[in-house]
Amino acid sequence: MAAQHINSLRTPVPLNTVDRDAFRDMCRSFAEKEIGTRWQQADAEKRFPRAFYQAAARTGLIGITASEDIGGAGLGSYEEAIAMEEMSKVNPNLAVAVLVQNVAGSILYEHGSAEHREIARRTIAGECLVAITITEPEAGNDIQNVQTRATREGDEWVLDGMKSFITLGGDADVLVTLAQTDSKLGRRGMRFFAVDRHDPNIEVSQIETYVNRPAPTYRVTFNKARVPESRRLDAGFAAIMAGFNRERIMVAARWLGHMQTALNWARDYAQTRRQFGRPIGANQSIAFALAQAHVDVEAARRLTYHAAERWDSGVPLRDVILDVSAAKLHSTQAVVRVTQTALHVGGGWGLTTELPVMRWALDALVAPVTVGSVEIQLRAIAKEMGLPVD
Ligand SMILES: Cc1cc2nc3c(=O)[nH]c(=O)nc-3n(C[C@H](O)[C@H](O)[C@H](O)COP(=O)(O)OP(=O)(O)OC[C@H]3O[C@@H](n4cnc5c(N)ncnc54)[C@H](O)[C@@H]3O)c2cc1C
Repeated sequence: MAAQHINSLRTPVPLNTVDRDAFRDMCRSFAEKEIGTRWQQADAEKRFPRAFYQAAARTGLIGITASEDIGGAGLGSYEEAIAMEEMSKVNPNLAVAVLVQNVAGSILYEHGSAEHREIARRTIAGECLVAITITEPEAGNDIQNVQTRATREGDEWVLDGMKSFITLGGDADVLVTLAQTDSKLGRRGMRFFAVDRHDPNIEVSQIETYVNRPAPTYRVTFNKARVPESRRLDAGFAAIMAGFNRERIMVAARWLGHMQTALNWARDYAQTRRQFGRPIGANQSIAFALAQAHVDVEAARRLTYHAAERWDSGVPLRDVILDVSAAKLHSTQAVVRVTQTALHVGGGWGLTTELPVMRWALDALVAPVTVGSVEIQLRAIAKEMGLPVD
């Protein structure tokens, strides 16, 4: 079936179908081989392992939903969610590097010119790492307050401003950057630019976080960085931001994988760890906490894949927003609860570096904060319910 735009705010419906069980098995073995063996050393060295990105590209996990003419697999969000879940079961932070490539890449190939599509093709091929460069010190959830200025000079644009929290910002080759071209126009003046990160007028410095390692986040400063006009994306802010709803489904899948791993570990530990002559899981309080966590995980699974299926069905964006926000909201809250439960089940040992569970609980803390926080999702859901919330 040929790609078809259901409406201008939506991505194409999937081109291909796939045996989903076989696809999941393939993603699982990739994650065990390429993430399981790599993430701890990369974390200790505080650097992103580029070889992981290249391996993901070779395996076809970059550009899962992109069309085949630029090297994509032409699959749906459902398959992208499967990949995200399986990778995140091993480590959600290397998984997020793939997520960033898929989101930034899709901005380029869905909305860009032939030149942008060529960058996306190279990203999918493992030759051009990209970063989403939106957030600023004074523009977090309030993206419309972006202050980075783009000023036209002949055939070029000159960028000035500072971005913060840019995942892989110092590792990337191209920064897919949101800037204001005309502050009088507000959000209508905002445009994305595919900026060469190696421009000497760009400075990067790492922001040390407790989370997301080993996919570091950076401050990125543009000091009169120059970008050719041909690197400006024509599409308006609203059209591109609509696509970010798909990113929210992937975020839900990311935290689904992570919480499943934490729950599996806690269930096994509760069966084997003995106190007072019996497994700790024989105590109702522990068993019930794990039963509750199981329901959190299963609800996350259903909401995430339901949202992905709705997205892939091609219904208009307005008819899928509620599903997307519900999945994102639940998954990002549930992962905190489930990892806290696992931490509690681990007792004092859970707080040591000898067990992985404290690290999992720390990683989960970023979930409710990014890609539209809990409050932003609640507001979207309330609006869809017809409530007069501002
Ligand atoms: C590890 C990590 C990786 C990131 N990667 C990227 C990246 O690759 N690219 C990128 O561009 N950005 C990235 N970000 C930025 C991320 O998207 C922002 O941190 C996020 O948008 C929140 O912005 P903020 O931190 O400024 O919080 P703020 O927007 O200042 O929010 C602070 C608190 O106020 C609440 N709040 C804000 N507005 C409202 C409202 N209207 N109603 C109710 N409550 C509200 C929020 O929910 C939150 O609890 C990353 C962040 C982190 C921590």
